[in-house]
Amino acid sequence: MDMQTSLLDRLFDAGLLIDTGVDGLYGRSGAFEDVIQRFEGLISAFGSSSPSEVIRFPPGMNRSHFEGSGYMKSFPQLAGTVHSFCGCELDHVNLLQCMAEGNDWTKDQKATDIVLTPAACYPLYPTIAKRGPLPAGGGLFDLQSYCFRHEPSKDPARMQLFRMREYVRMGTPDEVMAFRQQWMERGQELIAAVQLPVEIDVANDPFFGRAGKMLANNQRDQALKFELLIPVTSTAKKTACLSFNYHQDHFGKTWGLTTSDGAVAHTACVGFGLERIALALFAHHGLDTADWPAPVRKALWG
Ligand code: ATP
Ligand code: ZN
Ligand code: MG
Repeated sequence: MDMQTSLLDRLFDAGLLIDTGVDGLYGRSGAFEDVIQRFEGLISAFGSSSPSEVIRFPPGMNRSHFEGSGYMKSFPQLAGTVHSFCGCELDHVNLLQCMAEGNDWTKDQKATDIVLTPAACYPLYPTIAKRGPLPAGGGLFDLQSYCFRHEPSKDPARMQLFRMREYVRMGTPDEVMAFRQQWMERGQELIAAVQLPVEIDVANDPFFGRAGKMLANNQRDQALKFELLIPVTSTAKKTACLSFNYHQDHFGKTWGLTTSDGAVAHTACVGFGLERIALALFAHHGLDTADWPAPVRKALWG
């Protein structure tokens, strides 16, 4: 049995995660949720020195916003769309017959106006662009959403539905770069406060296909993405638990988002993988939170 399977099995056995029969789709216990809630409190405390606008979107986004974001160009393999039955009574009879025969009943489903959110910040850019130019000093937003990515895995740290807490900065290049630098430092302090080992490295997103290889290399060469890595299921292959992304003017251009003086806005975000952080805590400190080191308990429960 490899290490990944064993951590997942231990989490199931302890009741922290609940098997649904689908890899990467799990129920969570009260103890697991409590850790996530407490860690989110810690994130808020670290973020509280800079006032931010709190926005919570549901885990689905406007399909036209999704289409406009260019996500399908870069990550078609990860996207999930919401389809529904839109037929008449006769179609319903055929649907039930198709299901009874064990055939593919989903092929007649029609796309709705909703796509599953792939990253917490995607619904934000068109929403803020619609308001008009950013105020002087730009914008800072606090987001959290369940996100969907079609990447089924036995690795408990690679789920198909998981939560991402994000801070997103919009403004001039200097403003957003300063924000990212600040969160790279804060992120390390945060993780150190709960006694987990930290390491930061440049990273790239899994852009699809052969052209994607070039995009990934470019992203690395320009150091547009950093990850904070923690060993969770393996010490050799560490898990990205936070990411620090500089999008340059990509979303600004895409959505016509401008600064107060009319320049195309730059954007950056810091994303916390909440389940990954909880898993790192359980993997390092034990499956029973009562046994966690006192300073960790104090940092989370006060
Ligand atoms: P990885 O390289 O491990 O696939 P990523 O680069 O795709 O991670 P981001 O797109 O930067 O991750 O997402 C922001 C954060 O969301 C990550 O730092 C991570 O903590 C978390 N995350 C990403 N994918 C998953 C997943 N499949 N399951 C759980 N958490 C995830
Ligand atoms: Zn983001
Ligand atoms: Mg990924």
